[in-house]
Amino acid sequence: MQNIQAVSRSSDAQVSFDRLKKIYVTDDDDLLALNETSFSIGKGEFVSVLGPSGCGKSTLLLMAAGLESSSGGTVTIGGQVVEKPYTDIGIVFQEHALYEWRTILQNIMLQAEIRRLSKSKIESRAYELLEQTGLKEFAHKYPSELSGGMRQRAAICRALVHDPSVLFFDEPFGALDALTREQMRIDLEKMWLEQRPTVLFITHGISEAVALSDRIIVMTPRPGQVDEVLAIDLPRPRTKEVLSSQKFIDYCDRITESFMRRGIIKY
Ligand code: ADP
Ligand code: MG
Repeated sequence: MQNIQAVSRSSDAQVSFDRLKKIYVTDDDDLLALNETSFSIGKGEFVSVLGPSGCGKSTLLLMAAGLESSSGGTVTIGGQVVEKPYTDIGIVFQEHALYEWRTILQNIMLQAEIRRLSKSKIESRAYELLEQTGLKEFAHKYPSELSGGMRQRAAICRALVHDPSVLFFDEPFGALDALTREQMRIDLEKMWLEQRPTVLFITHGISEAVALSDRIIVMTPRPGQVDEVLAIDLPRPRTKEVLSSQKFIDYCDRITESFMRRGIIKY
């Protein structure tokens, strides 16, 4: 029932998941990683997929990017069914995935090389992004010379440099300390408010999802499936005041209780 409710067939859907399913076939066993999952993300909307470890979140993102095949159902981006690696998107993974032997700028310029885009255009945009993210002086440094937060900022610059209209994040702040994580969240919202890309944000952090999202797709434990869809009606930007409001706390409580009912959180 929940699954059916989660499908929004609105015409401005930018990314749609329709009964998407994944079975990993291994030597020992077949593993149902993601059960029939349906929901959609409107143009310019910020949607989080929130669920416990192992519920198929990364699998869902990889299928959406065309980097993993589906075992049923479809993903549609901008009206096109994703059947092979889809390039008009930006992706940020948990591990920054920068090439250690390339400088920060060279890592960002990979986008121009892979996509055969104008080098000079991409380079001037790269410098703009490096400036905005406080990394300008680090353009010619190697990833190992940067802190975790700075590397993740560089990975975000790389995902944004070709101005994709759709962004996928897979627990991008998972490896960062709490303070850096908080700053990254603030900066991400700022970027999103300025550019309004369509965002699929994967996380297992309840307050992070509530703080960032327009809507949250709450998943069940494996095999993951949509458990609940929660619209977050909080003003933006999500300031300190908003994040300490009763309404914010109520949203977090509601998700915590639903995880408790499922045995994901136990007190
Ligand atoms: P999440 O990102 O929510 O933690 P994943 O999508 O990474 O979950 O994984 C979902 C399930 O699928 C897990 O049980 C995981 O062990 C399994 N899985 C993930 N990738 C593979 C793979 N390439 N081969 C076999 N099993 C996999
Ligand atoms: Mg994952």
